[in-house]
Amino acid sequence: MAVEAKRTGMLLIISGPSGTGKGTLVEKLMKADSSFRFSCSVTTREPRVGEINGVHYHFVTVEEYNKLVAENAFLEYATVHGNHYGTLRKPIEEMMAQGQNVLLDIDTVGAINVMENADDYVSIFILPPSYTELRRRLEGRGTDSPEVIERRMNNARGEIAKVNRYQYSIVNDDLEIAYEQLRQIIEAEKQRTNRCEYTIPE
Ligand code: ADP
Ligand code: 5GP
Repeated sequence: MAVEAKRTGMLLIISGPSGTGKGTLVEKLMKADSSFRFSCSVTTREPRVGEINGVHYHFVTVEEYNKLVAENAFLEYATVHGNHYGTLRKPIEEMMAQGQNVLLDIDTVGAINVMENADDYVSIFILPPSYTELRRRLEGRGTDSPEVIERRMNNARGEIAKVNRYQYSIVNDDLEIAYEQLRQIIEAEKQRTNRCEYTIPE
């Protein structure tokens, strides 16, 4: 008879300035680790080329967003870089109840809000190796206008100033190294006794 492991779901919060590589790291993680479910946020921002409604975001109008706010449908919500974003409460609760790990890619305002209200979570802040490289990545991604890039660069310092509110930080310089650090944090957090209970056979 083998050792039995009973696992409790983990709420993983990932934040970092726009262009730092959160989406890239999250995509790699989701491909490699089937225990994670991505929390698909609601946003009023325009879809980028290649973004799929219901996969990357639920794209809604401002009216639809305001209705969801009024209905208390959001676990947290915030206005980021001039657009509205929110995490739907119900899917998170359902996934957590099923013992799944849930990943939130949310801004610092929303993340701090969740951290102040959730009993248990893992929070990670992704830092860029430099502001010059952050700009290069935003420009290289080719999805945002110069005005949008300027706004996101202007917000980056304020977001980075909140890094100490998070349990972990990772510098995403070399992607493979950053990804390995992310994996190590997750693997250690999965083994916490409150998330993993073993039954040892006779
Ligand atoms: P975010 O989700 O944080 O806004 P993205 O994941 O979209 O950022 O990454 C922004 C751009 O930077 C993308 O073009 C991505 O391919 C690139 N990128 C991500 N990580 C690295 C890295 N470690 N080195 C170089 N480029 C990277
Ligand atoms: P983007 O427009 O580049 O996809 O995301 C911009 C910012 O909004 C990122 O910092 C991202 O983490 C954040 N964001 C995405 N979804 C949510 C959400 O549901 N809530 C909050 N508070 N921020 C979000």
